Amino acid sequence: MIKEIKVVSSGSSQMIDITSKVQEVVRESGINSGLCYVFVPHTTAGITINENADPDVVTDFLKETSKIVPWEDRYRHVEGNSAAHIKASMMGFTQTVFVENNKLVLGTWQGIYFCEFDGPRTRKVLVKVISV
Ligand code: ZN
Repeated sequence: MIKEIKVVSSGSSQMIDITSKVQEVVRESGINSGLCYVFVPHTTAGITINENADPDVVTDFLKETSKIVPWEDRYRHVEGNSAAHIKASMMGFTQTVFVENNKLVLGTWQGIYFCEFDGPRTRKVLVKVISV
């Protein structure tokens, strides 16, 4: 079964720590040992794993990615959000995390981040936990 997590972004670009929500899906699955697939079914939002201890990491991350892909750059896409599409693909749309003892296996300082690049919007993240 695929579980859906609702994510509400409040900014145009935002990284939202969804680790606890994904962990909740893992807990509910009752699966002790396996894999957790996390998928973002959007074209202007992505997902990554990075530090969740110092919030400045996220601030720097958003600042620097906007330098690499500026919002305005005479893009051709008429919707006007090409930067968001590009950044979403740079992050990617899926993450796979090991599950052991019914818990996500992440590094001490790691969190799973939903990456909003064209907010604010109400989004969804799909999660599937598989026993292996
Ligand atoms: Zn677009």
